[in-house]
Amino acid sequence: MIPAELHIDLEALARNYRRLEAVSGRPVHPVVKADAYGLGATPVARRLLAAGARTFFVARAAEGVRLRADLGPEPDIYVLDGAVAGTERALIEADLRPVLNHGDQLRGWRGAGGGACGLQIDTGMNRLGFRPEDAPAAFDGLALVMSHLACADDPAEPMNRRQRDAFAAVAARYPDQIKSFANSGGCFLGDDYGFDAVRPGICLYGGGPEGRPDPRIAPVATLTARVLQVRDVPAGESVGYSRGWVADQPARVALFAAGYADGLLRAYSPEGQAFVGGQLRPLIGRVSMDVAAVEVTGLDVAVGDPVELFGANRPLDDAARAAGTIAYELLTSITARVPRVYSAAA
Ligand SMILES: *Cc1c(COP(=O)(O)O)cnc(C)c1O
Repeated sequence: MIPAELHIDLEALARNYRRLEAVSGRPVHPVVKADAYGLGATPVARRLLAAGARTFFVARAAEGVRLRADLGPEPDIYVLDGAVAGTERALIEADLRPVLNHGDQLRGWRGAGGGACGLQIDTGMNRLGFRPEDAPAAFDGLALVMSHLACADDPAEPMNRRQRDAFAAVAARYPDQIKSFANSGGCFLGDDYGFDAVRPGICLYGGGPEGRPDPRIAPVATLTARVLQVRDVPAGESVGYSRGWVADQPARVALFAAGYADGLLRAYSPEGQAFVGGQLRPLIGRVSMDVAAVEVTGLDVAVGDPVELFGANRPLDDAARAAGTIAYELLTSITARVPRVYSAAA
């Protein structure tokens, strides 16, 4: 069976990196957590290093340990979970910098003899971090102070400004530290959201800053499956489990080799589309474990032909929306059975 494949265009990744640098006017500190949103943290970070990145963010200590082993000693790697109790030694040994989120982490890190680290300030999202009034004064080893936007994908949301102003007030207490505030969406909110360094993830990987396709962001990832069989379905017959789709007239249907483990979500029924035979065509019936169907009546489609689930011809954000989700979840739901293939041009 010909496997589905996730193609990653490393030149498009580098273009998005440079675009985010230009838009924000700040150094870009890429977020490569969750295996760079499923694209492969090591190849992604290596390409971004070559493009000039010197600081990366991961979520978990284990992600940082692996990245450090692969990238070598040069870049700064911050761990957003912070100094989770029990991970301090691993963080120190891999020269990772926890982003400390609360007092116990701060005490644990300093008690373990930890050095360079960051500090997360919660400016209203009520996720991780110190409330501004509880944030510790600057201390030895504190290299970066950051906060995170709750609504950066919606430029009209007044909370953005409130969080920015709250962060600006706290940032003034840390004159010698790097201040970082903007994620992908934040890079597009204006110069006063930039502070010293920006922290994008999804826009590097081809998702738009507002959760829809954006001409400023190049597609990076292409998910392609292959046709296993083409069949003619007479009017009145159904396709797939639970008679999920019924032909109201004679139809031609291509069955292709992709399912849940390939990131082809069951929720694509009934809104999903795929690019096949040069056109966008509806996914029909229920997506199953390993096989899905696309309607190809009138198209010249044969066994082995590619079916693009997202990529240059089917924007990632549109595909995510059709499945009732967002690009982040779509990318990170593609399991290890899908080979990642890297190239400089799509
Ligand atoms: C995931 C994350 C980012 C990157 O967010 P995007 O929306 O993908 O740009 C930045 N900062 C923090 C704290 C995060 O958790």
